[in-house]
Amino acid sequence: MSDFPSRAHTSLKNAQMRRNVRKAVTTIRTKTGRVIAERADWQQLRDAGSAIKTEALGSLDTLLIQLEERIQAAGGVVHWARDAAEARQIIVGLVQATDSPTVIKIKSMTTDEIELNPALEAAGIRPIETDLADMIVQLANEKPSHLLVPAIHKNRAEIRSLFQAEMSRPELTDNPRDLTDAARTYLRDHFTHTRVAISGANFAVAETGAVGVVESEGNGRMCLTLPDTLISIMGIEKVLPRWQDLEVFLQLLPRAATGERMNPYNSIWTGVTPGDGPTAFHLVLLDNGRTRILADQIARQTLHCIRCSRCLNVCPVYERAGGHAYDSMYQGPIGAVLTPQLRGLAEAGSPAFASSLCGACHEACPVQIDIPRILVHLRGAAVEASRATLGGKLSAETLAMASAARIFGNAAMFGFTQDAAGLLGAMVQQDGLLPRLPGLGAWSLSRELPAPARQSFRAWWKQRKPQA
Ligand code: SF4
Repeated sequence: MSDFPSRAHTSLKNAQMRRNVRKAVTTIRTKTGRVIAERADWQQLRDAGSAIKTEALGSLDTLLIQLEERIQAAGGVVHWARDAAEARQIIVGLVQATDSPTVIKIKSMTTDEIELNPALEAAGIRPIETDLADMIVQLANEKPSHLLVPAIHKNRAEIRSLFQAEMSRPELTDNPRDLTDAARTYLRDHFTHTRVAISGANFAVAETGAVGVVESEGNGRMCLTLPDTLISIMGIEKVLPRWQDLEVFLQLLPRAATGERMNPYNSIWTGVTPGDGPTAFHLVLLDNGRTRILADQIARQTLHCIRCSRCLNVCPVYERAGGHAYDSMYQGPIGAVLTPQLRGLAEAGSPAFASSLCGACHEACPVQIDIPRILVHLRGAAVEASRATLGGKLSAETLAMASAARIFGNAAMFGFTQDAAGLLGAMVQQDGLLPRLPGLGAWSLSRELPAPARQSFRAWWKQRKPQA
């Protein structure tokens, strides 16, 4: 698997993708900023969201059992999945039991996380994405590049060409109305004839057993109400203690995500209701590394995430490199901390280094996740892990850092190093800048490093200090 720098290098060459992403995130950023500014109590809402998440994670064991009891009492069935393989096995088995050759799906990052679609296809079941952007990505045989707008890397001309080819509609224009009409026609038949739907979940309420999905297109509402069987999958961190907690998150999420005051569709259901909606409801509770994250006192706040994508929309790295550089269904700053923890630092640690730690994500996050702090924590863990793989030997970087620590910790040594650096800098400088540094070729080529001053401030001050 390639790492973030090489994937970003490839993405950066795609000028069209960069234009598409920049235009889209600028629009979303402006809209969310405007709608958030309407709320004088936004900071209080953020505090409340963060406090509720901290409380929920602190009592996850009892809340999940309570949720299971409430759902089963309302006629639903709860399944527990330790990892992605177990979750796939449960869901594929449930669909096979219905004999349905197709399933309709609501946008769900959790189903992407467990790689459900390939497992369904391997079992001869056709998954049909019904969210417009997810449908575009599926038809193009690509991967999502944004949490909420998976096809953000495509513009409407590209989408028109895709629809013309995949839907046999050569007359189609790139007018947004024409494109959405074409998608609606394509999906309508699937909505009315498919007997099984698969969804994720934005929240579940332990107190009542309610499960909720919020969305903007109405495709979710169709999937949640028309089929006979509904299978939902949810990470265990999505549970909230009380019904009243929804009040906070139903205000935070739409404003931070899409700049809407309220999501156009808020679907909340509890078990099954005879004569109204699906007759069978299954909820799969997924761990897949979340309890491991929970055990880490610093990184556990990663689990507060409500997947609003605001951190992506303000991130300078995401805006330039695009979502595919993260090689994950979780991109941007939250992806940089979540993916390495889910897949392991050895396999997927490189995005944790793809940040300047500017802090824009922390400032923007509606539940105040301190992403820069988690990034630094993960980088430390990655360095420790690489030291272990070197069999206790020190890497060049660790040696350099250890030497720097010694120099900065000793005034005499620091002074001597400054003098030596000044002398060396004066010898090699070109127009006041250092040339390419030996051993740091690529790093120093892309940066302008001023040559160290010939005389340090300390020495200058000593010379000029008035004599007593
Ligand atoms: S980390 Fe915060 S800003 Fe980013 S997606 Fe999660 S909740 Fe939204």
